[in-house]
Amino acid sequence: MKVIIVGGVAGGASCAARLRRLDEKAEIIMVERGPYVSYANCGLPYHVGAIIEKEASLLVADANTFRSQFAVDARTGCEAIEISPDKKTVQLRNVATGEVTTESYDKLVLSPGAPSIRPPLPGIDLPGIFEVRTVPDTRAIRDWIERGSLFLSGMHKYSGFQTVRPKTRAVVIGGGFIGLETAENLVHRGFDVTLVEMGDQVLAPLDQEMARIVEEYVQKHGIRLALNDGVAGFKEAGNRKVDVLTKSGKTHPADIVILALGVRPDTTLAKMAGLKIGERGGIRVDEHMRTSNADIFAVGDAVEVKDFVTGEWSLIALAGPANRQGRIAADVIAGRDSRFRGSQGTSIIGLFGAAAAWTGASEKTLKRLGDSDYEKIYLYPNSHAGYYPGARPIAMKVIFRKSDGRLLGAQALGEDNVDKRISALAMALQMGATVYDLEEAELCYAPQFGSAKDPVNFAGMVAADVLRGDMPISHWDSAGKGFLLDVREPVELAVENAPDAVNIPLGQLRARLGELPRDREILVICRSGQRAYSATRILLQKGFKARNLAGGMLSRTHASTFWES
Ligand SMILES: Cc1cc2nc3c(=O)[nH]c(=O)nc-3n(C[C@H](O)[C@H](O)[C@H](O)COP(=O)(O)OP(=O)(O)OC[C@H]3O[C@@H](n4cnc5c(N)ncnc54)[C@H](O)[C@@H]3O)c2cc1C
Repeated sequence: MKVIIVGGVAGGASCAARLRRLDEKAEIIMVERGPYVSYANCGLPYHVGAIIEKEASLLVADANTFRSQFAVDARTGCEAIEISPDKKTVQLRNVATGEVTTESYDKLVLSPGAPSIRPPLPGIDLPGIFEVRTVPDTRAIRDWIERGSLFLSGMHKYSGFQTVRPKTRAVVIGGGFIGLETAENLVHRGFDVTLVEMGDQVLAPLDQEMARIVEEYVQKHGIRLALNDGVAGFKEAGNRKVDVLTKSGKTHPADIVILALGVRPDTTLAKMAGLKIGERGGIRVDEHMRTSNADIFAVGDAVEVKDFVTGEWSLIALAGPANRQGRIAADVIAGRDSRFRGSQGTSIIGLFGAAAAWTGASEKTLKRLGDSDYEKIYLYPNSHAGYYPGARPIAMKVIFRKSDGRLLGAQALGEDNVDKRISALAMALQMGATVYDLEEAELCYAPQFGSAKDPVNFAGMVAADVLRGDMPISHWDSAGKGFLLDVREPVELAVENAPDAVNIPLGQLRARLGELPRDREILVICRSGQRAYSATRILLQKGFKARNLAGGMLSRTHASTFWES
């Protein structure tokens, strides 16, 4: 059997290695247009920031490794330019010489990825404007920065002492994870960074109130955010500088510009071959990663996948799914019945020592789909036992089915151990777990790692209390309709007050029930919802109508108080 794989990075390289492990006899050709196979594109922003100092560290395995260890005919600088599905051939062009050859195949795997979006804006090709997509891209950025430092310091013109080095300015366009990661790394390189984002928040998969917490954090660490403003074009400003012009009429001067406007599935070859393209613009595949042509498979960023929670077709450009899909395509080619389960978009981004992570559906996605059978909770547990040094709060939002408690999605932010909570919730979600399962999850605990009630258990307990009716909840957007009871201590009110709320500290509540109305719903607040839970339980058992305002004062403002915790 002869298999040709187009694209030699995440999906393609995984497919090649797996196929060889399953089939010693197959002839495998892996073609890659660029100079490297199997490189770590996820590490590129950190090479820009010099955290990963050596370019060679990004090269996970080279073409020789594929040849020697896997007997894969790995060809770099080799582009597939045409597929003839009837003849089962692919035309390959040697990028250096232009020579075109034809190879036949029994099975073909497409893993061409998703190139960066590059709109035809005026001036977009000016020097100093870069993308972060490939190793040569980051090399160009580092060269530009290094030559620029010399230029800005004036050292190219004269020798002598230069005491004041002008601040260099970077403008990053796009507030997705590549834009934010690169912005952070440019801050580490000493740039004054402005991030321009057309939408009204960074990290679009997060719900807006959670994104606000990220925005506040990155601003605190020196990134200037310009939200709700698209880029209109670029103008040369002399001395290797570029002016970034925005739709609102602003000008952001820059010594370097990074374009991070998102990616679009590469469907060029697939379209040429007449393969079915889905409604989201990606190559349509079945659960075996087979395209509309039975002998052609497609994997990675170029394909549409079924969203695991909503069942919708979606585009998910992540390394994990690409690697798993490459492996599944290899299994199927080797005669196994492997299936891709769909993607839940589990992601994480690290920023200035903190992390934001998420899995499954966001509330805005459910709203967009008109799905109202969900409830959400906010909680702010410590990353590990509060008495053990170094505990930091985690802001969590957990979304679950009202009707059966099934976990639908989770988002978490914080400075410690966010990843393991979202990883645990992601696994639970994929296994179809309910919030009752989270209550019972048996997780690692010692004081430096977690709590006897881990944040994952805690989320389950809070959500299950809501569903069992033990803790009716409400949210701030409906706070105007109830009688607000604040059960914090008076000293806390001085820090942040909820207007119109009556203050009865929890410790005095049983003695002061006579001050509360019996004919109105009482919405109980505290700082994070924990004391309000106890107060709500007292009130319910004393015959009052009461609800806990989920997440307390912390969920009222989300950003402004969380990082001070
Ligand atoms: C800067 C950056 C940071 C990232 N960080 C993360 C992260 O932290 N976590 C995460 O999960 N994901 C991350 N990703 C996304 C992740 O890298 C991708 O989801 C993954 O690489 C997709 O794999 P793929 O095989 O579909 O495409 P790619 O890995 O992009 O590989 C496609 C390859 O196909 C080649 N190709 C295309 N057409 C042809 C052709 N006609 N002939 C020959 N070769 C061709 C291309 O040159 C390319 O090298 C990041 C991506 C970038 C760019």
